[in-house]
Amino acid sequence: MPLTLLHHIESLSAELGFDAWGVARAEQVANDAARRYRSWVDSGENGCMQWAANHSELRNDPTLLMPGAKSVLVFAANYFPARMRKPELPQFAYYAYGEDYHKVLRRKLKVITRLITQTTGHLCRICVDSAPIHERYWARMAGLGFIGLNNALIIPGKGSYFFLGIILTSLELPASEPCRLSCGECRLCIRSCPAGALTDGKPVDARRCLSCLTIEHSGPLPRWTSQVIGNRAYGCDTCQQCCPHNRHAKPTRIAEFAPSPEFLNLTDAQILAMTDHDFQRIFGRSAVRRAGLERLQRNLLITRKP
Ligand code: SF4
Ligand code: SF4
Repeated sequence: MPLTLLHHIESLSAELGFDAWGVARAEQVANDAARRYRSWVDSGENGCMQWAANHSELRNDPTLLMPGAKSVLVFAANYFPARMRKPELPQFAYYAYGEDYHKVLRRKLKVITRLITQTTGHLCRICVDSAPIHERYWARMAGLGFIGLNNALIIPGKGSYFFLGIILTSLELPASEPCRLSCGECRLCIRSCPAGALTDGKPVDARRCLSCLTIEHSGPLPRWTSQVIGNRAYGCDTCQQCCPHNRHAKPTRIAEFAPSPEFLNLTDAQILAMTDHDFQRIFGRSAVRRAGLERLQRNLLITRKP
C-alpha cells in the first residue's frame, strides 16, 4: 500500500485548506440509505430539487459513475465566515458569502488528482455537486462525521459549515472507519426550523425548506412563506446555527470564501434597486449568481406584502 502517497495527500489537503478527509471503498450504497432516499423522492418531498429524482442507478453506485473506481475520497472545506452581515440586514446563507465553492473546490481537488495520477498512473474523477452521488453518505462512510437531523454532515469537534468535494479513483486506498456517532437525544434543529421542514429520522421536506425555496424555487413563493421567511434573502442557516456542534465553529482559512466589504454591507433597498450590471459585479463569482437577481428581489419583497 502506498503509505507515502497517503501522507502526501494528507499534507497536501491540509495545505490546500481542507479540514478533514477520508477514504471509503467504492461500492453500492447500503440498501437502507438507498431506500430512505428513494422514499423521500417518491413522497415528493424533494420539492423543487427535481434533479434529485434523476439517475438513481448511478447515484447508488459510484462504480457506475466511474467504471473501475475502487475508492471514494471525501474532502471537507470549512466555509464559516470570520465576518458576518449584521442581523438587521437581509441574510444570506454563510456558504454563499464568498466565491462559488464549485469552482474553488474543483481547483483544489485537481491538485490532489494530479498527485495521484502522476505518482500511480491511476484515473480520477472529481465530483463537486457535478455528478449524482450521495456526498454526505460517503463522507460518513469515509469517517469524516455523521449526518445530523438537520441533514448536514457534522464533523465532531468542528461542526457542519463544510463543503464536501469527492474524488473517485481507480486506486485502491485503505478505507477509513465509518463514523458511528449520531445526534443522540438532541432535537434542537427540529424545534428551531421556522418552516417545519425537519422531522425526526427523515430527510428535509424541500417543499417547506426556506433554503430550497429561496434558492431553487422558480416563480412566486407560496403565500405561507411570508409568515416565516423573516429577513432571509438567500438560503437559511437556522438549523445549523442552533446546532450545538457549531458552537465552536472556527472561521475558514480559505481566502476565496471571505466576503467582500461591499457584500457585507448591502441593504435591502440596495438589493431591490440593483441593476443586472451591479448584480454581476457583486455576485458574479458567488453561488448567489445561480439564483439570479429576480429571485433575490422576490425573496425580499414577499415579507413586504400585506
Ligand atoms: S434550512 Fe431553514 S427552513 Fe430548511 S430545514 Fe433548516 S431551518 Fe428549516
Ligand atoms: S441541532 Fe441537535 S439534532 Fe440537530 S443536527 Fe445538531 S445535534 Fe443533531
